[in-house]
Formats: sequence, C-alpha cells, structure tokens
Amino acid sequence: MAANRSKSRSAAKKAKPAAAKPGPAAAKKSAPAKKARPAPGRAAKAATDSKAKAGASKKKADVSKAKPGTSKAKPGDSKAKAGTSKAGASKRGAATKAKAGRAADVLDFGGFPAGSVTRHEVTLCLACIFKLFTNQLGLAPRTAYNEIRRYTPTVEELTSRAPARPFFKPSSEKDARCPYCEAPKRWHASLPVYRIEGGKAADAARRTLLKKLPVGEGEFQLQEEKRTARQVFFEWLERLGQTLDFEEDAAWMPEAARAFLERREPKTDWAAAFEGARQVRRSHRLDAGCEREGARLFLAPALYNEVLLVQYLVSRSHRHGGRTFEGRLTLPDLVGRLRHGGHLAAHGITERDRFDVLEQLVEHLTGGDAPARLYFIIDRRQLLERARNAYERQTT
Ligand SMILES: [Zn+2]
Repeated sequence: MAANRSKSRSAAKKAKPAAAKPGPAAAKKSAPAKKARPAPGRAAKAATDSKAKAGASKKKADVSKAKPGTSKAKPGDSKAKAGTSKAGASKRGAATKAKAGRAADVLDFGGFPAGSVTRHEVTLCLACIFKLFTNQLGLAPRTAYNEIRRYTPTVEELTSRAPARPFFKPSSEKDARCPYCEAPKRWHASLPVYRIEGGKAADAARRTLLKKLPVGEGEFQLQEEKRTARQVFFEWLERLGQTLDFEEDAAWMPEAARAFLERREPKTDWAAAFEGARQVRRSHRLDAGCEREGARLFLAPALYNEVLLVQYLVSRSHRHGGRTFEGRLTLPDLVGRLRHGGHLAAHGITERDRFDVLEQLVEHLTGGDAPARLYFIIDRRQLLERARNAYERQTT
C-alpha cells in the first residue's frame, strides 16, 4: 500500500500543475471567454505552458523524492500529496457506484480521540472547471474530464474562509446556483476536508482508518503538513470560535470549556460531566480532573484556570476584553486572577509585564514551538461521481 501511495503521489504531482495552475485566478478570466473564445493560438499556448510546467514540476518532484529530509517546503506547501491515482479507470465505473453505497461508512472517525478531528466543507463547481478546461485551455471534453478526475486542490483552497472560483461556500438552499456561472446543483460537488491532529492515540486511529480507505480511483486524497503545537492550537481555537454564538454566554461558555477539556483530557467522558450542569466552578479539593455535585461541575484549579484562558482567547476578538465563567475580563484582570489563584506560580511564570505573562501562559497552554503534524483527508467521492455524470451529460 505504501508503494501504491508514493506512486500515486508522483502522479498527483504531475497532474497538479495542469489542473491547479489555471485554478481560481485563471478561472476568473474564463468568464468573458463565454462571449469571446480565446484565439486558438492563445489556448494552444496556454496548454503548452501548462505542459511545460508539468514537466518542470515532475523534475522537482523527483528531486524532492530523492532527498526527502532536505525539503524546505513551507507548512502550506502540500508536500505529501497522495490519493489521486491513474485516471482512465472509468470502466470500473459501475463497480465504483456499487462501492459508493458501502463506502459511505468507510470514513468513520469514531475511533479518534475527541477534538482531534475537524471537518470543513466547500463546494466545487464542475461547470466552471469544465468551461475553463474546454474553452480556455482548448481541451477536448474527454481530456477535461480526465483532468478533473486528477484535480488535487490544496488544503488552503479548500479551507479558505473566502473561497475563490471554482470553489464556493456550501448552501443549504434547494435551488442553489454557482455564484460564478449560475450552474444548477447537479454541477456542484461537495468536497469535505477532515483535519486530523497528530498524537499518539490519533496516529493509531488514523493508521487503522487509512488501511480501510479505498484509494484505487483517488476517492481520498491525503495530505500531511508540519506545524508548531501553538499553530495547531490556534487553528483549532479559530475553528471553534467560528462555531460559537457569542451572543449566548450560557451556551457558548460551557461549549468552549467542554471542547477544550475534551482536547486536553480525551480519556474523560466530558459529555457526561457537562450533561445537565448549570454551573462550572473551581474546586480546591481536587488535584486533577472533575467532580459533579448536583447541577454543579467542579474542575481542578489547573483545568479551571486553563478554561478561563481559553474562553478569554476565543472571545477577546468578539468582545471588549474576553468573556469567561468569571465574567468579562481584561488582560490585567485575567492575569491578576491567575496570579492570585497560584496558576502562574505553578507554571513558574515570574514575569511582571502582563503581555509577557500572557505569552508564557499561551506557551504552556499550547505547547509552543514543539513540532506538530496535521493530516488532511479530502473526500473526493462526490467530485468523481458528479464529474462522471457531467461528462456523460456533455457527450449524450
Ligand atoms: Zn460555476
């Protein structure tokens, strides 16, 4: 399987420039192309260019393969791209369709520690891409279809807060149209991205899951990226912030606390601990963990203090000062409370300047510059299926 992966990785690299190069920027250009088709010469040149670039990038891929350790790629660069494999396997189309029904359950994250997996989804407009490949680059429909099957968008493109053509935010509307070309729903393919944080328990669960995933037709694309522990934490916090309604303190505060605690101590059943709890408090009787007393949930001081810090961090950009279980806190308030509660001393934080203190607190909370890894699984099943349908519509 490892051999398969690395084979398909180079295939993906090779295919990428042709497919991804004309991505969002070029796609914008293709809008006027509806009226005025680009001159054949220009289209041909574009195709040649992209071919030339594909060649160049293949060399690059070979070099980086030869010296895996020396690659200086930034975290954003998708180094470990895999999954998209040889196209032209469409004769197995019928088999895939049958498989798709069963494959719906294949992506099961039940074995992962709580908080280690987050899901993001974006919609891809196949009409936009088809038009780009056929009108702008002058590809035949069949070739365009093959390029789309090999299309390996980057995690950045897929998880961007402001998706660019041909991507757009998923809509729950029944008659949703592509915001760029107005294509109806049958042209839209959903591309879910699962972000998995590295870690002992998550790594084992990930390996088990990957063994089960079909890779033959590029149903799943895998990417791996390097980060620091601090980056991973703040990305997680930002995603959490996006899901919270900061107008409802009684709802978001326990929600944020629970999400953080699940991530911090995945072995505790925090769902049960929070079930029906109306108050969350600090308990000096506890050295670790939590305790329920009626509708009150008591947390050990270290946990409680970290919860305050997380609530402060996640809400400070939404409110003046952060909002916490202890009310609205400015940075001096927060630092004062943590100092008074012995939290600073417990972490050996002796700085007086409150910004230095916050930096130290964040260092302890997040793990700072410790190396961390993120793994992404891109579910391309609907993309493959919708692309096939779109091709059939075009040719019949
Ligand atoms: Zn479109």
